[in-house]
Amino acid sequence: MLLDLKPLFAGSSDSLSVDFEMDLSEFEFLGVKPLRAPVAINGKIVSRAGIVESQLSCKVEYVGVCDRCLKETVKNYTAHINRVIVVSLENEDSEENDDIAVVPNMQLDLEDFCYPDIVMSLPTKLLCKGNCRGLCSVCGKNLNEGDCGCQVKEVDPRLAALAELLNN
Ligand SMILES: [Zn+2]
Ligand SMILES: [Zn+2]
Repeated sequence: MLLDLKPLFAGSSDSLSVDFEMDLSEFEFLGVKPLRAPVAINGKIVSRAGIVESQLSCKVEYVGVCDRCLKETVKNYTAHINRVIVVSLENEDSEENDDIAVVPNMQLDLEDFCYPDIVMSLPTKLLCKGNCRGLCSVCGKNLNEGDCGCQVKEVDPRLAALAELLNN
């Protein structure tokens, strides 16, 4: 979806509202497609004192599996995209500044603009709940559903490493 930013750069408008949904259902991350529901993006692109910038919120519904118990887990969160938009960069150095988007023809492709921020906002760790007990390392039972009765010795990996050192 293209948004014409000319009114902002020309000074004839100081705010353009944005409200659209982005279908990322085919997007793959860690071997799955975690964005089944469209990402709802809304907010505005504003011009203040000659600076054009985005003030956008992306509502993301991320579906993944819990790192500990592998249960399907949904995480809802909002990612914000606040970036300065310019027609051209004043010097080469600012090219390294990711917060600046360059839109030479003043036509902002909203999908391209939002995509990197949405990808960077994806969680790399996911727990079904803060105190998830995970799976039993012996029988594989989900310990959130109750104890399995297996005798599992809790071994502190640091002590195990120390014991190994002492044995050698
Ligand atoms: Zn879990
Ligand atoms: Zn068990």
